[in-house]
Amino acid sequence: MTDSFAPFLFDQDDPASRGEAHGEQWRAEIRELAEIRAALALKKGSFTDRAQLDAVARLHLPLLDNFSAPLSAELRGIARGADVAPEAVVILNHYTDLRDVPPSVLEGTCPEDPVAEDTFRALNLNADDPGGCTAVYLPGRDAPVLGQTWDMHGTAEPFVRAIRIKPRSGDDEFVCFTLTGCLGMTGVSARGLAVTINNLTSTDGQVGVVWPALVRAMLACASAREARDLLLRTRLSSGHHYMIADGREFYGVETSGKLKVVTQTGARAAHLHTNHCFDPVLRRHEAVPKASTSFRRMELATTLYVQQRPQDARALWTMLSSHDGYPRSVCSHIDDAGGDPSASKTCGRMIVDLTRGEVLVGRGCGQTEPFTVVKLDRWRGANVP
Ligand SMILES: [Zn+2]
Repeated sequence: MTDSFAPFLFDQDDPASRGEAHGEQWRAEIRELAEIRAALALKKGSFTDRAQLDAVARLHLPLLDNFSAPLSAELRGIARGADVAPEAVVILNHYTDLRDVPPSVLEGTCPEDPVAEDTFRALNLNADDPGGCTAVYLPGRDAPVLGQTWDMHGTAEPFVRAIRIKPRSGDDEFVCFTLTGCLGMTGVSARGLAVTINNLTSTDGQVGVVWPALVRAMLACASAREARDLLLRTRLSSGHHYMIADGREFYGVETSGKLKVVTQTGARAAHLHTNHCFDPVLRRHEAVPKASTSFRRMELATTLYVQQRPQDARALWTMLSSHDGYPRSVCSHIDDAGGDPSASKTCGRMIVDLTRGEVLVGRGCGQTEPFTVVKLDRWRGANVP
């Protein structure tokens, strides 16, 4: 895969039309990826069959309508464009969270602890590495930088894309790292606000806002603080760690399905995160799978940070492409080790220079695939001093 990773432009003003264009552009890929993720959700979640998974996914649609009519219109537009049911696009977008949502939500009762924690642990501790991500914020010598690897089932790699959402009217612009059919997984706005994500495996999953819609809504906020507050008041499905930065302020927020804790603050310090909770209360609501490389990647990333002291986006790209400890390295290649194509691997990475409006983005292994440099055309974030 040596093609350039230039972002695909969506310039529609109307969210429904934007979604339809997205769905039509990658119809075959969306249909294929929705099936891959439905099969993985059935294998790794506690659903009895596809009908039950579809029903649980459908429960997320009214919540999305209430959360954001434009983002709901865009997601439903993707479904129309790709000629699939909206719940298939929910499964594609929300897969890592859906795995943690118990089918008992269909009964209309919401028990306080929907799945006995022991049952959940038995289900998940033997599961494969659910994927991860290594996220890093660094204050930099003259410019703060925020970036991450995107580690997931290796079968997702062909579906990884960069998109530029730049409506013809107005002055909005977003560059996101995403998958065909997904609203956006990590990204940056022309206002200079960037968000990264680490998946966390929670035992208190529930029906919540489809998480890529939350990422897009956070990116549309005016500041890191506003995005943090939006996150703190939104009903979630399952755990993530969000890094939020705008060149002036930084917040790291850990969540489970039901709880949220600001665990990191301060734009002048470096912050690292992988796929386990730091917060002691949240730890009681998580089940890190035995096969997870999260603790190991945290150690590797900490050592690499101390050794390399990266000061800019290119240096962070090098750090996040490290093969130290291969295949369980920061640029992860676990799928090579066991021969299982659905095992976790680094499928790409995105790094944002928060004072230049410049993004480094690429697919696959950082050692073999070069990054593409993307400039935000309407950048009005912080500037290099
Ligand atoms: Zn690699």
